[in-house]
Amino acid sequence: MLDNLSTRFSKIIKTMRGQARLTEENTAEMLREVRMALLEADVALPVVRDFVAKIKEKALGEEVISSLTPGQALVGIVHGELVNLIGGEYDARAVELNLATTPPAIVLMAGLQGAGKTTTVGKLAKRLVEQKKKVMTVSCDVYRPAAIEQLKSVTAQSGAEFFPSTPEQKPADIAAAALDYAKKHYIDVLLVDTAGRLGIDEVMMNEISALHAQLKPIETLFVIDAMAGQDAVNTAKAFNDALPLTGVVLTKLDGDSRGGAALSVRHITGKPIKFVGVSEKIDGLDAFHPDRMAQRILGMGDIISLVEEAHKNVDMEQAQALAKKIKSGKGFDLNDFKEQLAQMKKMGGVATLMDKLPSQMTQGAGNIDMDKADQQLRRTEGIINSMTPLERAKPELIKASRKRRIAQGAGLHVQEVNKMLKQYEQMRDMMKKFQGGGMGKMMKMMGG
Ligand code: GDP
Repeated sequence: MLDNLSTRFSKIIKTMRGQARLTEENTAEMLREVRMALLEADVALPVVRDFVAKIKEKALGEEVISSLTPGQALVGIVHGELVNLIGGEYDARAVELNLATTPPAIVLMAGLQGAGKTTTVGKLAKRLVEQKKKVMTVSCDVYRPAAIEQLKSVTAQSGAEFFPSTPEQKPADIAAAALDYAKKHYIDVLLVDTAGRLGIDEVMMNEISALHAQLKPIETLFVIDAMAGQDAVNTAKAFNDALPLTGVVLTKLDGDSRGGAALSVRHITGKPIKFVGVSEKIDGLDAFHPDRMAQRILGMGDIISLVEEAHKNVDMEQAQALAKKIKSGKGFDLNDFKEQLAQMKKMGGVATLMDKLPSQMTQGAGNIDMDKADQQLRRTEGIINSMTPLERAKPELIKASRKRRIAQGAGLHVQEVNKMLKQYEQMRDMMKKFQGGGMGKMMKMMGG
């Protein structure tokens, strides 16, 4: 997803990080690169202009934090503005559907044909059913031959109720009948699928406006294909002008999208992106996190907050010493492991830490169960504490009899010692993997 854009941005960021000083020249160069990257990704021109202007203003005004290099401060600015552009800070209340009304809460779907409305209705239905809501779907699309059947089929997968309609009916009559049924049967949420056209046309707009006036939905979601390029601007504008939209669903983010619509739609409509479609399957819908999306686009994980946190919590000297040791190729023994565990605890545990690293760095770590790793932190420390310094420095010495002694000392079973040694080995292997690039660099950054 957004691969090209992400590659471009990663390169820009790499260059920026390397800058020891911010000059007018290298800042201007960076802004040019950012502008090009966005234009190539089909982001709408007014959006690009606005975005670049904001970065420029901040970059020139920013007091550079002494502990970070200026390049990193710039990365922070770009990241912050990108988050603002696509939605600001994550707010669960703004992103989840608003259902606070006298039931049924009506959700009206709007968008062009093929945007993913019907698929999204199925996904939303499943999500709401899982939240123990009584959900019903209905299709007012009397034009596309298979539309009603398609909705019936995805609704069946979702576990929601389906209100039948036929192409011979009028959309307004279908809506009225569905609403009547929903009221009588205590439906919590009524999801209304509508007809889309290949392009904006007046008849379609009038029809959906009429449906909106009739149903007075609490949510009116504009569904847009993330692959839509420059024309996303016109489409989004037209729908936003015709209907009081409450949110946006960005579909097909799993596809080979350049990112134009993804980056423009919030700016153009001023409405929050609530969900993103990430697969064709019924469970392929995620709540939208602007921050995570920005990180992915920048190919950086939550490095910035990780660095901030590291500066707050971590013993720099220890981190630096460990980084040096790993770099020198001396390996990673149980003494280091013990220190590492203590640091991790300070930073909020294994899961938090892994979450914040860029995906390139955590590839291959997927086989570690993060929650369990956190639970084991304390036990593991107990086990390490009952080892001798020699055993910690040379874990390969720990055979059966030593294991028994250590287990006894920690008040645990030998299996726990085996488990812990395995955990250590995984960590050591991970460190080895990071040695060349990621982790070493991160440690260096943490070391200031
Ligand atoms: P509608 O005309 O707006 O109702 O669009 P549909 O729901 O029929 O979707 C059009 C096509 O896009 C279908 O083939 C869907 O399977 C596909 N689609 C919808 N959402 C997603 C998504 O998030 N990811 C992928 N890969 N395909 C999607």
